[in-house]
Amino acid sequence: MPELPEVETYRRFLEEITLHQTVTAVEVFDAHVLAVDADELRRELVGATVTGTHRLGKNCFLQLSSGRLLVLHFGMTGDVGAYRHDYDRPRFTRVALHLREGLRVAFIDPRKFGRIRLADSVATFQQAKKLGPDALDLTAKQLQSALGRRKTLLKPLLLDQRLTAGLGNWIVDEVLFQARVHPERPAASVSADEAARLHAAVQLVLRTAIAQEANYRQFPASFLIHAREWDEAPEPQSDAHHHCPRDRSPIVKKYVGGRATYYCPVCQPAPPDSHSAA
Ligand SMILES: [Zn+2]
Repeated sequence: MPELPEVETYRRFLEEITLHQTVTAVEVFDAHVLAVDADELRRELVGATVTGTHRLGKNCFLQLSSGRLLVLHFGMTGDVGAYRHDYDRPRFTRVALHLREGLRVAFIDPRKFGRIRLADSVATFQQAKKLGPDALDLTAKQLQSALGRRKTLLKPLLLDQRLTAGLGNWIVDEVLFQARVHPERPAASVSADEAARLHAAVQLVLRTAIAQEANYRQFPASFLIHAREWDEAPEPQSDAHHHCPRDRSPIVKKYVGGRATYYCPVCQPAPPDSHSAA
């Protein structure tokens, strides 16, 4: 699933190929991914120039010279591509934007959970979707005050897009591991020092993932992600991959708030009154 690091990689790609380019045509191959009327989309895009790009959480924006924005959400399997000729069009291209200089931008999405829409501004979109600040912009102070008020468990809270936009399942596990905090700690029990560690870990994990263009297998050996079972094309792994990179303890997998969660029981001690020791 495209998480924040993938979407930032897509944004950089789109910035590179679309900035200052004028859209000359819009081809819709499958309207399923449109959350806007196809004719309205054409009216807005054809003749417009891309004047900038933005990202908020897992949403990517193309700023249009008309003043409005094209919003791309990549769902489960969304991706972007570029091509010049029909015969090179990537498989599963659902929508293509033709640019004046000849390149075409493909919105690719095999499973069609992605969505394309229009917005008047990033702020109005953020408000309508009830999204918190982007995870890379979240300050230590904002994080600490958000945690301090809540009795909910830490992991589901960090996944709540109203607190901060763009933290997905594996990212939160990695953040908690890097900060050495148990996923089932009540949020309000997190100390100021732990909140500062969580904030630093959000920055570390996201910046590492973006720097590697979301090629997870290239992450540092100190990352928990190597101990996860990969959803796609599972390959036989030696047991070594399922041990903590710090202390070699077996990594625990359990469901927290309905989400598969991986943590080290040694580095991330359980809260005293939880049943999670079992
Ligand atoms: Zn450990």
